[in-house]
Amino acid sequence: MSSTPVEAKYYTKSVHAGMSPDPVAGAVTPPIYQTSTYAQQSPGVHKGWDYTRAGNPTRDALEIGLAEIEGARYGLSFSSGLAAEQAVMQVLLAPGDEVLVCDDVYGGTGRLFRNYFEKYGIKFHFIDMNDDEEISAKLSSKVKVIWVETPTNPTLKVIDIEKMLSYAKKVQAKLVVDNTFASPVFQHPLSIGADLVLHSSTKYIGGHSDVIGGAVMTNSQELYDLVKRSQFEAGSIPSPMECFLLHRSLKTLAVRMNQHHQNSVAVAEFLSSAPKVSKVYFPGLDHHPNHDVALRQMSGFSGMVSFDIDGSYEDVLKFLSRLEVFLLAESLGGVESLINHPERMTHASVPEALRKQLGIGPTLLRLSCGIEASSDLVDDLKHALDF
Ligand SMILES: *Cc1c(COP(=O)(O)O)cnc(C)c1O
Repeated sequence: MSSTPVEAKYYTKSVHAGMSPDPVAGAVTPPIYQTSTYAQQSPGVHKGWDYTRAGNPTRDALEIGLAEIEGARYGLSFSSGLAAEQAVMQVLLAPGDEVLVCDDVYGGTGRLFRNYFEKYGIKFHFIDMNDDEEISAKLSSKVKVIWVETPTNPTLKVIDIEKMLSYAKKVQAKLVVDNTFASPVFQHPLSIGADLVLHSSTKYIGGHSDVIGGAVMTNSQELYDLVKRSQFEAGSIPSPMECFLLHRSLKTLAVRMNQHHQNSVAVAEFLSSAPKVSKVYFPGLDHHPNHDVALRQMSGFSGMVSFDIDGSYEDVLKFLSRLEVFLLAESLGGVESLINHPERMTHASVPEALRKQLGIGPTLLRLSCGIEASSDLVDDLKHALDF
Protein backbone atom coordinates (compact mmCIF):
# COMPACT_ATOMS: atom_id res chain seq x y z
CA MET A 1 0.00 0.00 0.00
CA SER A 2 1.37 3.43 -0.88
CA SER A 3 1.93 5.72 2.09
CA THR A 4 -0.39 8.39 0.64
CA PRO A 5 -3.51 6.58 -0.51
CA VAL A 6 -5.48 9.74 -1.32
CA GLU A 7 -5.26 10.74 -4.97
CA ALA A 8 -4.04 14.35 -5.15
CA LYS A 9 -7.16 15.66 -6.88
CA TYR A 10 -9.32 14.80 -3.84
CA TYR A 11 -7.57 17.39 -1.69
CA THR A 12 -8.62 20.12 -4.11
CA LYS A 13 -12.04 18.66 -4.85
CA SER A 14 -12.88 18.42 -1.14
CA VAL A 15 -12.18 22.08 -0.55
CA HIS A 16 -13.99 23.40 -3.62
CA ALA A 17 -16.85 20.93 -4.18
CA GLY A 18 -20.08 22.90 -4.52
CA MET A 19 -18.47 26.09 -3.26
CA SER A 20 -19.09 29.23 -5.30
CA PRO A 21 -19.32 32.78 -3.93
CA ASP A 22 -22.82 33.79 -2.92
CA PRO A 23 -24.23 36.16 -5.59
CA VAL A 24 -25.82 38.53 -3.02
CA ALA A 25 -22.83 39.44 -0.82
CA GLY A 26 -19.95 37.53 -2.36
CA ALA A 27 -19.73 35.39 0.77
CA VAL A 28 -17.05 32.74 0.19
CA THR A 29 -19.03 30.23 2.24
CA PRO A 30 -22.58 29.53 1.02
CA PRO A 31 -25.00 31.10 3.53
CA ILE A 32 -27.43 29.11 5.65
CA TYR A 33 -30.82 29.83 4.10
CA GLN A 34 -32.80 29.11 7.24
CA THR A 35 -36.20 29.58 5.63
CA SER A 36 -39.19 27.38 4.89
CA THR A 37 -40.63 29.56 2.10
CA TYR A 38 -39.70 32.23 -0.47
CA ALA A 39 -41.36 35.49 -1.60
CA GLN A 40 -42.83 35.33 -5.11
CA GLN A 41 -43.06 38.33 -7.50
CA SER A 42 -46.39 37.12 -8.82
CA PRO A 43 -48.13 33.72 -8.51
CA GLY A 44 -45.70 31.05 -9.67
CA VAL A 45 -43.00 33.60 -10.56
CA HIS A 46 -39.97 33.29 -8.24
CA LYS A 47 -36.20 32.88 -8.18
CA GLY A 48 -36.29 29.08 -8.46
CA TRP A 49 -37.27 28.15 -4.91
CA ASP A 50 -40.81 28.09 -3.54
CA TYR A 51 -40.75 25.81 -0.45
CA THR A 52 -37.78 24.28 1.39
CA ARG A 53 -38.99 20.67 1.20
CA ALA A 54 -38.81 21.11 -2.60
CA GLY A 55 -35.54 23.03 -2.61
CA ASN A 56 -33.20 25.22 -0.58
CA PRO A 57 -30.02 26.99 -1.77
CA THR A 58 -27.93 25.63 1.13
CA ARG A 59 -29.04 22.09 0.25
CA ASP A 60 -28.39 22.71 -3.45
CA ALA A 61 -24.80 23.72 -2.67
CA LEU A 62 -24.25 20.57 -0.57
CA GLU A 63 -25.77 18.33 -3.24
CA ILE A 64 -23.55 19.78 -5.96
CA GLY A 65 -20.59 19.17 -3.62
CA LEU A 66 -21.65 15.58 -2.88
CA ALA A 67 -21.94 14.82 -6.61
CA GLU A 68 -18.52 16.33 -7.30
CA ILE A 69 -16.74 14.46 -4.54
CA GLU A 70 -18.27 11.12 -5.61
CA GLY A 71 -17.54 11.87 -9.29
CA ALA A 72 -21.26 11.63 -10.04
CA ARG A 73 -23.51 13.70 -12.27
CA TYR A 74 -26.14 14.06 -9.54
CA GLY A 75 -26.27 14.17 -5.74
CA LEU A 76 -29.12 14.24 -3.25
CA SER A 77 -29.09 14.66 0.51
CA PHE A 78 -31.41 13.19 3.12
CA SER A 79 -32.14 13.53 6.82
CA SER A 80 -30.31 10.25 7.59
CA GLY A 81 -28.66 7.33 5.84
CA LEU A 82 -31.77 5.26 6.43
CA ALA A 83 -33.99 8.00 4.97
CA ALA A 84 -31.80 7.88 1.85
CA GLU A 85 -32.19 4.08 1.71
CA GLN A 86 -35.92 4.34 2.10
CA ALA A 87 -36.19 6.86 -0.75
CA VAL A 88 -34.11 4.63 -3.04
CA MET A 89 -36.14 1.50 -2.29
CA GLN A 90 -39.45 3.37 -2.61
CA VAL A 91 -38.66 4.28 -6.19
CA LEU A 92 -36.98 1.04 -7.29
CA LEU A 93 -39.40 -1.58 -5.95
CA ALA A 94 -42.97 -2.80 -6.42
CA PRO A 95 -44.93 -5.70 -4.86
CA GLY A 96 -43.64 -9.09 -6.09
CA ASP A 97 -40.09 -7.85 -6.61
CA GLU A 98 -37.10 -9.55 -5.01
CA VAL A 99 -33.84 -8.10 -3.70
CA LEU A 100 -30.44 -9.67 -3.06
CA VAL A 101 -28.77 -8.12 0.00
CA CYS A 102 -25.44 -8.98 1.60
CA ASP A 103 -26.01 -10.97 4.80
CA ASP A 104 -23.91 -8.67 6.97
CA VAL A 105 -25.59 -5.49 5.79
CA TYR A 106 -25.80 -2.62 8.31
CA GLY A 107 -28.27 -3.76 11.00
CA GLY A 108 -30.61 -0.79 10.51
CA THR A 109 -30.77 -1.49 6.78
CA GLY A 110 -31.82 -5.10 7.37
CA ARG A 111 -34.41 -3.95 9.90
CA LEU A 112 -35.82 -1.36 7.46
CA PHE A 113 -36.18 -3.98 4.74
CA ARG A 114 -37.67 -6.66 7.03
CA ASN A 115 -40.03 -4.47 9.04
CA TYR A 116 -41.30 -2.05 6.40
CA PHE A 117 -40.74 -3.35 2.86
CA GLU A 118 -41.47 -7.05 3.31
CA LYS A 119 -45.07 -6.29 4.28
CA TYR A 120 -45.61 -4.78 0.81
CA GLY A 121 -44.84 -8.16 -0.76
CA ILE A 122 -41.17 -7.59 -1.50
CA LYS A 123 -38.83 -10.50 -0.84
CA PHE A 124 -35.30 -9.97 0.48
CA HIS A 125 -32.65 -12.67 0.17
CA PHE A 126 -29.88 -12.04 2.70
CA ILE A 127 -26.87 -13.88 1.27
CA ASP A 128 -23.11 -14.15 1.40
CA MET A 129 -22.06 -12.12 -1.64
CA ASN A 130 -18.72 -13.93 -1.73
CA ASP A 131 -20.55 -17.21 -2.39
CA ASP A 132 -21.26 -17.47 -6.13
CA GLU A 133 -23.41 -20.57 -5.73
CA GLU A 134 -25.68 -18.84 -3.26
CA ILE A 135 -26.04 -15.80 -5.52
CA SER A 136 -26.80 -17.91 -8.60
CA ALA A 137 -29.39 -19.90 -6.66
CA LYS A 138 -31.33 -16.74 -5.77
CA LEU A 139 -30.80 -14.71 -8.94
CA SER A 140 -33.91 -14.52 -11.15
CA SER A 141 -35.82 -12.08 -13.30
CA LYS A 142 -37.79 -11.14 -10.18
CA VAL A 143 -34.66 -9.59 -8.67
CA LYS A 144 -34.85 -5.85 -9.27
CA VAL A 145 -32.13 -4.67 -6.89
CA ILE A 146 -28.77 -6.04 -5.78
CA TRP A 147 -27.77 -4.22 -2.61
CA VAL A 148 -24.20 -4.40 -1.37
CA GLU A 149 -22.23 -2.74 1.33
CA THR A 150 -18.45 -2.99 1.13
CA PRO A 151 -16.41 -3.23 3.28
CA THR A 152 -19.01 -4.78 5.55
CA ASN A 153 -19.68 -4.23 9.20
CA PRO A 154 -18.21 -5.39 11.57
CA THR A 155 -16.04 -8.12 10.03
CA LEU A 156 -14.91 -5.96 7.09
CA LYS A 157 -15.55 -8.43 4.31
CA VAL A 158 -14.95 -6.95 0.87
CA ILE A 159 -17.45 -7.56 -1.92
CA ASP A 160 -16.34 -7.44 -5.55
CA ILE A 161 -18.40 -4.61 -7.05
CA GLU A 162 -17.50 -5.51 -10.64
CA LYS A 163 -18.71 -9.06 -10.12
CA MET A 164 -21.95 -7.81 -8.53
CA LEU A 165 -22.47 -5.61 -11.58
CA SER A 166 -22.21 -8.61 -13.89
CA TYR A 167 -24.88 -10.42 -11.82
CA ALA A 168 -27.11 -7.32 -11.90
CA LYS A 169 -26.75 -7.01 -15.68
CA LYS A 170 -27.78 -10.64 -16.19
CA VAL A 171 -31.26 -9.92 -14.86
CA GLN A 172 -31.39 -6.15 -15.49
CA ALA A 173 -31.45 -5.39 -11.78
CA LYS A 174 -30.15 -2.12 -10.39
CA LEU A 175 -26.91 -2.27 -8.42
CA VAL A 176 -26.94 -0.13 -5.28
CA VAL A 177 -23.71 0.25 -3.28
CA ASP A 178 -23.61 1.55 0.28
CA ASN A 179 -20.22 3.29 0.13
CA THR A 180 -20.28 4.58 3.72
CA PHE A 181 -17.28 2.62 5.04
CA ALA A 182 -14.98 3.37 2.10
CA SER A 183 -16.00 7.03 1.65
CA PRO A 184 -16.10 8.81 -1.73
CA VAL A 185 -12.34 9.30 -1.49
CA PHE A 186 -11.31 5.62 -1.47
CA GLN A 187 -13.90 3.76 -3.57
CA HIS A 188 -15.85 4.76 -6.69
CA PRO A 189 -18.68 2.32 -7.39
CA LEU A 190 -20.30 4.55 -10.03
CA SER A 191 -17.15 4.44 -12.15
CA ILE A 192 -17.32 0.63 -11.98
CA GLY A 193 -20.91 0.81 -13.22
CA ALA A 194 -23.13 0.82 -10.10
CA ASP A 195 -26.47 2.56 -10.64
CA LEU A 196 -26.70 4.28 -7.27
CA VAL A 197 -24.28 5.00 -4.46
CA LEU A 198 -25.50 5.69 -1.01
CA HIS A 199 -23.88 7.06 2.15
CA SER A 200 -24.70 7.56 5.75
CA SER A 201 -23.20 11.08 5.80
CA THR A 202 -23.35 10.72 9.58
CA LYS A 203 -20.05 8.83 9.26
CA TYR A 204 -17.01 9.89 7.18
CA ILE A 205 -18.71 12.62 5.13
CA GLY A 206 -19.87 14.43 8.29
CA GLY A 207 -16.81 13.24 10.18
CA HIS A 208 -17.36 15.10 13.46
CA SER A 209 -20.01 12.97 15.18
CA ASP A 210 -22.40 15.92 15.28
CA VAL A 211 -24.78 15.44 12.33
CA ILE A 212 -27.12 12.68 11.13
CA GLY A 213 -27.45 12.66 7.36
CA GLY A 214 -27.68 10.59 4.19
CA ALA A 215 -26.67 10.97 0.56
CA VAL A 216 -27.50 9.36 -2.79
CA MET A 217 -25.40 9.84 -5.91
CA THR A 218 -26.01 8.62 -9.46
CA ASN A 219 -25.06 9.26 -13.08
CA SER A 220 -28.56 8.43 -14.32
CA GLN A 221 -30.87 11.35 -14.94
CA GLU A 222 -33.85 9.01 -14.75
CA LEU A 223 -32.89 7.65 -11.32
CA TYR A 224 -32.00 11.12 -10.09
CA ASP A 225 -35.41 12.46 -11.09
CA LEU A 226 -37.17 9.56 -9.36
CA VAL A 227 -35.21 9.79 -6.10
CA LYS A 228 -35.47 13.58 -6.08
CA ARG A 229 -39.22 13.26 -6.48
CA SER A 230 -39.32 10.95 -3.47
CA GLN A 231 -37.18 13.42 -1.51
CA PHE A 232 -39.84 16.06 -2.19
CA GLU A 233 -42.96 13.90 -2.02
CA ALA A 234 -41.98 11.73 0.96
CA GLY A 235 -40.09 14.58 2.60
CA SER A 236 -36.98 13.11 4.29
CA ILE A 237 -34.95 16.27 3.79
CA PRO A 238 -32.07 17.55 5.92
CA SER A 239 -32.38 21.00 7.49
CA PRO A 240 -30.44 23.96 6.06
CA MET A 241 -28.22 23.97 9.16
CA GLU A 242 -27.32 20.29 8.68
CA CYS A 243 -26.63 20.89 5.00
CA PHE A 244 -24.28 23.70 5.96
CA LEU A 245 -22.43 21.52 8.50
CA LEU A 246 -22.06 18.61 6.06
CA HIS A 247 -20.82 20.92 3.33
CA ARG A 248 -18.31 22.38 5.79
CA SER A 249 -17.15 18.85 6.59
CA LEU A 250 -16.55 18.03 2.92
CA LYS A 251 -13.70 20.53 2.84
CA THR A 252 -11.56 18.34 5.10
CA LEU A 253 -12.73 14.95 3.81
CA ALA A 254 -9.54 14.11 1.89
CA VAL A 255 -7.27 15.26 4.71
CA ARG A 256 -9.27 13.29 7.26
CA MET A 257 -9.43 10.13 5.13
CA ASN A 258 -5.68 10.16 4.72
CA GLN A 259 -5.19 10.24 8.48
CA HIS A 260 -7.94 7.64 9.14
CA HIS A 261 -6.15 5.34 6.69
CA GLN A 262 -2.69 5.90 8.21
CA ASN A 263 -4.06 5.21 11.68
CA SER A 264 -5.98 2.07 10.78
CA VAL A 265 -2.95 0.62 8.99
CA ALA A 266 -0.75 1.31 12.04
CA VAL A 267 -3.36 -0.11 14.43
CA ALA A 268 -4.02 -3.23 12.30
CA GLU A 269 -0.29 -3.91 12.04
CA PHE A 270 0.14 -3.53 15.77
CA LEU A 271 -2.83 -5.78 16.59
CA SER A 272 -1.62 -8.46 14.15
CA SER A 273 1.35 -9.23 16.37
CA ALA A 274 -0.10 -8.17 19.73
CA PRO A 275 -0.45 -10.63 22.59
CA LYS A 276 -4.05 -11.41 23.70
CA VAL A 277 -5.40 -10.74 20.18
CA SER A 278 -6.57 -13.88 18.38
CA LYS A 279 -7.81 -12.44 15.07
CA VAL A 280 -7.65 -9.14 13.17
CA TYR A 281 -10.13 -8.14 10.46
CA PHE A 282 -8.73 -5.48 8.12
CA PRO A 283 -8.86 -5.50 4.30
CA GLY A 284 -5.37 -4.00 4.11
CA LEU A 285 -3.71 -7.08 5.64
CA ASP A 286 -2.18 -9.66 3.26
CA HIS A 287 -4.04 -12.52 4.91
CA HIS A 288 -7.49 -10.88 4.59
CA PRO A 289 -9.53 -13.30 2.41
CA ASN A 290 -10.54 -10.50 0.00
CA HIS A 291 -7.27 -8.54 0.09
CA ASP A 292 -6.84 -8.78 -3.71
CA VAL A 293 -10.33 -7.39 -4.35
CA ALA A 294 -9.71 -4.62 -1.81
CA LEU A 295 -6.52 -3.60 -3.61
CA ARG A 296 -8.36 -3.57 -6.93
CA GLN A 297 -11.36 -1.48 -5.93
CA MET A 298 -10.16 0.63 -3.00
CA SER A 299 -7.29 3.11 -2.90
CA GLY A 300 -7.29 3.31 0.92
CA PHE A 301 -8.86 1.49 3.87
CA SER A 302 -10.58 4.21 5.93
CA GLY A 303 -10.40 3.84 9.70
CA MET A 304 -12.18 0.60 10.53
CA VAL A 305 -10.40 -2.35 12.17
CA SER A 306 -12.04 -5.24 14.03
CA PHE A 307 -10.40 -7.85 16.22
CA ASP A 308 -11.03 -10.63 18.70
CA ILE A 309 -9.57 -10.64 22.18
CA ASP A 310 -7.99 -14.00 22.99
CA GLY A 311 -9.95 -14.61 26.20
CA SER A 312 -13.37 -14.25 27.75
CA TYR A 313 -15.97 -11.49 27.88
CA GLU A 314 -14.55 -10.63 31.34
CA ASP A 315 -11.18 -10.03 29.66
CA VAL A 316 -12.88 -7.77 27.12
CA LEU A 317 -14.34 -5.71 29.97
CA LYS A 318 -10.91 -5.43 31.62
CA PHE A 319 -9.41 -4.31 28.32
CA LEU A 320 -12.16 -1.72 27.73
CA SER A 321 -11.81 -0.24 31.20
CA ARG A 322 -8.09 0.43 30.59
CA LEU A 323 -8.57 2.44 27.36
CA GLU A 324 -8.04 6.20 27.59
CA VAL A 325 -8.17 7.50 24.01
CA PHE A 326 -10.67 5.12 22.39
CA LEU A 327 -14.15 5.99 23.60
CA LEU A 328 -16.78 3.24 23.98
CA ALA A 329 -19.58 4.40 21.67
CA GLU A 330 -21.62 3.38 18.63
CA SER A 331 -21.17 5.01 15.22
CA LEU A 332 -17.94 5.57 13.31
CA GLY A 333 -16.12 7.83 10.90
CA GLY A 334 -15.62 10.77 13.27
CA VAL A 335 -12.37 12.55 14.09
CA GLU A 336 -12.28 10.90 17.52
CA SER A 337 -11.42 7.22 17.90
CA LEU A 338 -14.24 4.98 19.05
CA ILE A 339 -14.52 1.36 20.12
CA ASN A 340 -17.67 -0.71 19.87
CA HIS A 341 -18.68 -4.14 21.15
CA PRO A 342 -20.89 -5.31 18.23
CA GLU A 343 -22.59 -8.20 20.04
CA ARG A 344 -23.92 -6.00 22.84
CA MET A 345 -24.11 -2.65 21.03
CA THR A 346 -24.49 -2.08 17.26
CA HIS A 347 -25.49 -5.65 16.40
CA ALA A 348 -27.60 -6.51 19.45
CA SER A 349 -30.74 -6.53 17.27
CA VAL A 350 -29.28 -9.07 14.82
CA PRO A 351 -30.75 -12.55 15.48
CA GLU A 352 -28.31 -14.64 17.54
CA ALA A 353 -27.97 -17.42 14.96
CA LEU A 354 -27.04 -14.91 12.25
CA ARG A 355 -24.63 -13.15 14.62
CA LYS A 356 -22.84 -16.46 15.21
CA GLN A 357 -22.72 -17.19 11.49
CA LEU A 358 -21.18 -13.76 10.85
CA GLY A 359 -18.52 -14.27 13.51
CA ILE A 360 -19.91 -11.69 15.94
CA GLY A 361 -19.16 -13.15 19.35
CA PRO A 362 -18.47 -11.94 22.90
CA THR A 363 -14.79 -11.20 22.21
CA LEU A 364 -15.20 -9.21 18.98
CA LEU A 365 -14.43 -5.48 19.09
CA ARG A 366 -14.70 -2.91 16.31
CA LEU A 367 -12.49 0.17 16.19
CA SER A 368 -13.15 3.38 14.33
CA CYS A 369 -9.69 4.96 14.22
CA GLY A 370 -9.99 8.74 14.36
CA ILE A 371 -7.43 11.30 13.22
CA GLU A 372 -5.32 11.49 16.38
CA ALA A 373 -1.60 10.60 16.29
CA SER A 374 -1.08 6.95 15.25
CA SER A 375 1.40 6.45 18.07
CA ASP A 376 -1.14 7.56 20.69
CA LEU A 377 -3.71 5.10 19.35
CA VAL A 378 -1.24 2.21 19.30
CA ASP A 379 0.03 3.11 22.78
CA ASP A 380 -3.51 3.22 24.12
CA LEU A 381 -4.27 -0.26 22.76
CA LYS A 382 -0.90 -1.60 23.94
CA HIS A 383 -1.49 -0.32 27.45
CA ALA A 384 -5.07 -1.62 27.58
CA LEU A 385 -4.04 -5.08 26.34
CA ASP A 386 -1.69 -5.39 29.30
CA PHE A 387 -4.65 -6.33 31.55
C1 LIG B 1 -24.81 4.23 9.91
C2 LIG B 1 -25.00 3.49 8.65
C3 LIG B 1 -26.21 3.52 7.95
C4 LIG B 1 -27.42 4.26 8.47
O1 LIG B 1 -27.22 5.64 8.46
P1 LIG B 1 -27.91 6.65 9.51
O2 LIG B 1 -27.30 7.96 9.11
O3 LIG B 1 -27.56 6.20 10.88
O4 LIG B 1 -29.37 6.60 9.24
C5 LIG B 1 -26.29 2.84 6.76
N1 LIG B 1 -25.24 2.14 6.28
C6 LIG B 1 -24.08 2.06 6.93
C7 LIG B 1 -22.96 1.28 6.35
C8 LIG B 1 -23.91 2.73 8.14
O5 LIG B 1 -22.74 2.64 8.78
